[in-house]
Amino acid sequence: MRFDHRHLLGIDPLRPDEITTILDLAEHYVTFNRSRQKHANALAGLTQINMFFENSTRTQASFELAGKRLGADVMNMAMQASSIKKGETLIDTAMTLNAMHPDLLVVRHPHSGAVDLLAQKVNCAVLNAGDGRHEHPTQALLDALTIRRAKGRLHRLNIAICGDIAHSRVARSNILLLHKMENRIRLVGPPTLMPAGIEAFGTEVYHDMEEGLKDVDVVMMLRLQKERMDGGFIPSEREYYHRYGLDAAKLSHAKPDAIVMHPGPMNRGVEIDGTIADDINRSVIQDQVEMGVAVRMAAMDLLARNLRANPKDIMA
Ligand code: ASP
Repeated sequence: MRFDHRHLLGIDPLRPDEITTILDLAEHYVTFNRSRQKHANALAGLTQINMFFENSTRTQASFELAGKRLGADVMNMAMQASSIKKGETLIDTAMTLNAMHPDLLVVRHPHSGAVDLLAQKVNCAVLNAGDGRHEHPTQALLDALTIRRAKGRLHRLNIAICGDIAHSRVARSNILLLHKMENRIRLVGPPTLMPAGIEAFGTEVYHDMEEGLKDVDVVMMLRLQKERMDGGFIPSEREYYHRYGLDAAKLSHAKPDAIVMHPGPMNRGVEIDGTIADDINRSVIQDQVEMGVAVRMAAMDLLARNLRANPKDIMA
């Protein structure tokens, strides 16, 4: 098993074999999490601090549970009530926490690149739990594990990523990962929600759902990231749902056994119809949540092995 990283900041720096290493170890944790006895020692003695500067339900709970199941001492910083509100800079907050000797720092931040910057300043392993519209690596890894389990492989699949691509770190990390694993990726959405320089992504681009979903194996829907929009990107939510919301009619263009994914939180009736989201024959949305805990356990386990193998590095 090789995973030569001190931090997990994004999918970009990972090799395909390292992605497979994380997913294989996560498989082990899926079984473990389904057993009655859910306590292991991979992180015993280590301190994990979760710093979420942006709201989160799934990701924060998932990281907390993952750390606790592996025996870490886990602390959640209430960033809304922190000194950030009094004007402290991100780096000062990080240095303050660093002086308390955490081993794993899980960070979510509204600014792209903030987590990378922080990782340069602290002595511990840093995991990116989502930075602006940049990356959300554990989301892409849990999506990959969900796809691999549902489809029996993670290569040569036709995958449509649909909706607000421009503002989505989930889309970015998924494009990077699915590309590295040699899948064919289509981006489907209105021109206003496609990122600038889309050609460089090496993907096919569609502005029509019926064409974009034709014969795909995987339909990945994205939330409209209203908090990252400064202006009118869509005429109205009703109009958006009509053209880009996933309903049974649009899904019928995908392969009959195509799976439906969504990272959550979902806007039912905006990007996805509630009955599709709840259809246990098509939707793997709950599996994604389950895989999230396992993938985060695997990622923290691998980083902790590296911390333990290079104690000097920790002190550096
Ligand atoms: N939960 C995911 C994220 O933090 C997706 C979303 O918010 O739409 O990026």
